[in-house]
Amino acid sequence: MNAKTYIVLIEDEKNICNFIATTLTAQGYKVSAAPNARSGLSLITSGCPDLVLLDLGLPDRDGIEIIREIRTWASIPIIVISARTQEQEKVLALDCGADDYITKPFGSSELMARIRTALRHSNRLQTGSRLNQRPYRANGLVIDFEKRLVTLNGENIHLTQIEFKIVSLLARSSGKVITYDSIISHVWGPYADDNNRILRVNMANIRRKLEQNPAEPHYIFTEIGIGYRMLEDQEG
Ligand code: CA
Repeated sequence: MNAKTYIVLIEDEKNICNFIATTLTAQGYKVSAAPNARSGLSLITSGCPDLVLLDLGLPDRDGIEIIREIRTWASIPIIVISARTQEQEKVLALDCGADDYITKPFGSSELMARIRTALRHSNRLQTGSRLNQRPYRANGLVIDFEKRLVTLNGENIHLTQIEFKIVSLLARSSGKVITYDSIISHVWGPYADDNNRILRVNMANIRRKLEQNPAEPHYIFTEIGIGYRMLEDQEG
């Protein structure tokens, strides 16, 4: 009954491809690998995978185009794997519909954590929104979305409306990176100025309220040049 989770891996570098395939197989996943976009897309359309791992630099097509194409017909989680350090590339991938990214070189535990988070989110979306309504809990921080209450080790934390919107957006996608632009358009609307200053100011205030040491955050992490990632919800 317990069908294996099926992952399609599109990666042209043999060593990385072997490393990922071996790691995933050892963890009980079923994996099919393709060295280019063309065969990768055909694996996806024929096999209905639960998740796609996608290298951005492929010999035949740009990974961004592949994300756009997949997103026209499927919502399966896509994790981008890339050697590129340019933040712009990752931001573009996320804004085009990728769920997360992992930068080479990475270790197996980081890879597994990203995959588990992405699968958990996609299961939650499929099982409906009610689960999304239950409070976020991690390391003493509780965010009750319905009551609009935030407590830290049992003590009420007062957040402004804007701060609460930011925190609940991140908490609902905890474990996943959310780009600056998508936070800004979610909180201030699609026509908001796309400068990050107002977001940074709000984040500084949020961290002062939530973090023991705002310079070394434990709940909301900065992904430099890309966005923020909130500590993963501990009730799965
Ligand atoms: Ca490549």
